[in-house]
Amino acid sequence: MRLFDRASAKLKYPKIRFSQYQLYRTSGGKYPGAIYVSPLERNSGWYARIEVTGLLTLNKYNPLPGLEAQLRRLASDPTRYAQEHGHTTGNCCFCKKTLTDQRSLFAGYGPDCAAHYGLPYPIRKKLGGRGKK
Ligand SMILES: [Zn+2]
Repeated sequence: MRLFDRASAKLKYPKIRFSQYQLYRTSGGKYPGAIYVSPLERNSGWYARIEVTGLLTLNKYNPLPGLEAQLRRLASDPTRYAQEHGHTTGNCCFCKKTLTDQRSLFAGYGPDCAAHYGLPYPIRKKLGGRGKK
């Protein structure tokens, strides 16, 4: 939740994609501001909903085994969770881009996403003329 609150300040539609599911925030509907956990395919229902109060509801008609444990790990240490995804897949979980930069590979996500989501990113070292920013 806090991750999304920070991101909402910078991004209109923050969305995070992991290997098995994605998270996105709703604006209207029955539960305004709630975060939905859904399959990666479009329009294929949802696995779970996290309301602004933090209440987690698992969709019993569309269960994803182990999801609750995953979400708890994500909530307790989002930086590490994002990092693990980056390290195992080679992609940034926030923007899906392939991680190429040395520091991004180390962090597990890219610099822009780190800024958007308020995550730590390694300080730039002068590596001798490798682009700017
Ligand atoms: Zn990214």
